[in-house]
Amino acid sequence: MERELETLFEAQKIETLIMEDERKLLRAPQRLKQMDEELLAVRQKIEKEKEIIDELEKERRKKEKELEVEKEKIKKLEVRLYDVKTNKEYQALLKEIEAAKETNDRTEEDVLVLMEKVEDLKKDYESSHVHLKEIERQSEGERAVIEKEMKSMDEVIARLTQERDNLLSVVSENLRNMYRILKEGRGGIAVTNVKNGVCLGCNMNIPPQLFIEVTKNKQLIQCPSCNRILFFREND
Ligand SMILES: [Zn+2]
Repeated sequence: MERELETLFEAQKIETLIMEDERKLLRAPQRLKQMDEELLAVRQKIEKEKEIIDELEKERRKKEKELEVEKEKIKKLEVRLYDVKTNKEYQALLKEIEAAKETNDRTEEDVLVLMEKVEDLKKDYESSHVHLKEIERQSEGERAVIEKEMKSMDEVIARLTQERDNLLSVVSENLRNMYRILKEGRGGIAVTNVKNGVCLGCNMNIPPQLFIEVTKNKQLIQCPSCNRILFFREND
């Protein structure tokens, strides 16, 4: 019985590896999709930043144009100062020039504010680009690893399955059936180790007398709580 139990225990270890690989295989497409989404989000953020910069630049150019037009107007008004006949007209013209200059001052301020804003936004935009390059590089690396893993995983699983089946083929049919039924009903774990009087399958205590029997590995003993087949191996 000890040989058979040990064989089952080894088969279970391989079974666990198979389950891990299958989980990885299932997770891989999700992870790849997640990476694509992350990249897309960063790219969209950068596009948005660029749009805002372009818009502010457009606004600045518009203001600069206004400024030029207004300066031309002031020049013309100033020329007219020489032609006015009355003091009243002269005063009115001066007032108009003054008002135009004030408007220009404000527009100039607006231009400066816009330039500063664009300057700041460009810094953000640059660092977003650096960040994008960084995560592009990372996900390229991760993608390569995942794709390589996925390719070899099928082979690995097939090899492990063969190894498991070889082991199971040498135990009695009775035990093999029991293993299969428990595996299906207990999340893939039919055989489990025990440690300090605890079943490592369900983490419940095993009665001390039973635990002593389990450590001998001489007979088929199932956990009173989870029904799994118990096998004792120290430091495993
Ligand atoms: Zn248990």
